[in-house]
Amino acid sequence: MGADGYPVLIDAETFQSVQSRLQKKWGDHTRRDCPVSALRETLRCSCGGHLKRWFSSVHKTDTLYLRCAECGGEVVIPDADLLAEVEQQAAEYTPPTVSASYTPSEEVVRLSNAINRGLEKPERPEDVVALILQGISTRYACFETPEASPDTQRLIKEKAYAQAIKYITITAENGVTVTFK
Ligand SMILES: [Zn+2]
Repeated sequence: MGADGYPVLIDAETFQSVQSRLQKKWGDHTRRDCPVSALRETLRCSCGGHLKRWFSSVHKTDTLYLRCAECGGEVVIPDADLLAEVEQQAAEYTPPTVSASYTPSEEVVRLSNAINRGLEKPERPEDVVALILQGISTRYACFETPEASPDTQRLIKEKAYAQAIKYITITAENGVTVTFK
């Protein structure tokens, strides 16, 4: 009798062996199939349209057969070639330098002039202080805060390409250009 009082139909040893065989099979399948499948949504035609997979019985399993949803252009590229390109371009990836830019707005200029005039005639110092505080917050508003972006470098290092890549353009001649986020 097994757990919960039901008769044992399969002994633990057999169960384990079946499990590990299944795991081996599906594990291998996943390893072989996953990297390219994960990138499926990022594939773009040189016209900018989405490249969709299509299937027929003559297709090789290790090759992507793609067709553009916009222009109907076709791309046939071996999985390994695409992955090698992605790997290489990931290795060469350099993050763009983020620099905050400052441009004083008209409001900043107007407030600065008002502050200077107020300082020349300090009859009402509380007004001048209020202007200065307003001026400070207006100046801060002029700094463009860089867009919050995922840490692409970290994702590349972790080989989480599906998250790191914005899109991959593939030309009919199999020219691959990877654009990272
Ligand atoms: Zn196209």
